[in-house]
Amino acid sequence: MSPVSPVSPGSIVIKGARILGGEPADILIEDGVIAGIGRDLAGDETVEAAGLIALPGLVDLHTHLREPGREDAETVETGTRAAALGGYTAVHAMANTSPVADTAGVVEQVWRLGQEAGHCDVQPVGAVTEGLAGERLAELGAMADSAARVRVFSDDGKCVSDAVLMRRALEYVKAFDGVVAQHAQEPRLTAGAQMNEGAVSGRLGLTGWPAVAEEAIIARDCLLAAHVGSRLHVCHLSTAGSVEIVRWAKSKGWNVTAEVTPHHLLLTDDLVEDSPVGAYNPIYKVNPPLRTREDVEALRAALADGTIDVVATDHAPHPVEDKETEWAAAAMGMIGLETALSVVQEAMVETGLLDWAGVAERMSYAPARIGRLAGHGRPIEVGSPANITLYDPSAREEVDPGSYASKSRNTPYEGRTLPGRVVATFLRGRATVLDGKLA
Ligand SMILES: [Zn+2]
Repeated sequence: MSPVSPVSPGSIVIKGARILGGEPADILIEDGVIAGIGRDLAGDETVEAAGLIALPGLVDLHTHLREPGREDAETVETGTRAAALGGYTAVHAMANTSPVADTAGVVEQVWRLGQEAGHCDVQPVGAVTEGLAGERLAELGAMADSAARVRVFSDDGKCVSDAVLMRRALEYVKAFDGVVAQHAQEPRLTAGAQMNEGAVSGRLGLTGWPAVAEEAIIARDCLLAAHVGSRLHVCHLSTAGSVEIVRWAKSKGWNVTAEVTPHHLLLTDDLVEDSPVGAYNPIYKVNPPLRTREDVEALRAALADGTIDVVATDHAPHPVEDKETEWAAAAMGMIGLETALSVVQEAMVETGLLDWAGVAERMSYAPARIGRLAGHGRPIEVGSPANITLYDPSAREEVDPGSYASKSRNTPYEGRTLPGRVVATFLRGRATVLDGKLA
């Protein structure tokens, strides 16, 4: 009996795209794989891409999809629609759901929901400790061995503040080449914290979140990772001092990587005092908090020189009632999947700090490498899976959260004009987004 041949979806040619901003070329996709790159290629279907930049499908190391438990804020379905519209072909879903993703059962559930939705691949992050309680290690090995094949472990939203637990987690994940992604926040130094500790918090009378609370944990964890010979990833760096510590750890040859969010590359804590949407607007309340102009400059320089490896969104959807309330009571977090590439263009490309190859490294190759995500973060070349984002850098659009696929509206960019527009996203050769809309 001869084997049944797979049904071919037909070939697609992307015409005249500038791969990583280079010279225009055609990209031929067959059976979900890049089958040719060159001139005058033909296929069953044609996608015109003159003037568009082709990037490898973006990979997010840090997304909150909120399901299970907070489906009023986001679901796997709505969050992955937002991801595809933002140019992403894979996202890592953080573990602070309800129930917490601390067992093989929960991570497999999230992984399957992602497969069913089909807009982008969902790679669950496993919790480090049971219930994020910071007391006992979760079933790290069972999550690693599950169908979801978890490699990134994080209590994000909370810090693994106990040094002994952190050491044991770092030791444990070595068995399956995992990484511990730390939300660096010394809890006692940030009790009741509302915004960056500095001149603005002093004037506004809000309890400060001091830079040292982040930096002290990062320094400790770099030392622990080196001591046990394990991999550490530091979530959402926000201060100039954190950059210096990561730079020092890397200079020692230690296995430490770091991420920065788009909002920490663009926004500062002055916005809490004075912004287009008034003072004390909780749209700017986020954890870690927006910092100073000097911090933003240091983060940009570190992303440019490779000290910071990755841009990760920390997409954190919250329903209106949790955000449009008084500052002290409001939830911390901002959505970001649908604006990340535009913010990176404004903060890094238009400032001359990064070219498009640099963007591909920090928003696709590096996050896939750190997450050990096979099939993503591969260069646009013959033989790679056809995960491709087509982007128009010349577009300028006013941010309209009402148009977003995310179930939540808490973007800090409302009313602001951002550059660029994701025109199309291909996941293994299948268009998830075409003409800027879900396909
Ligand atoms: Zn976090």
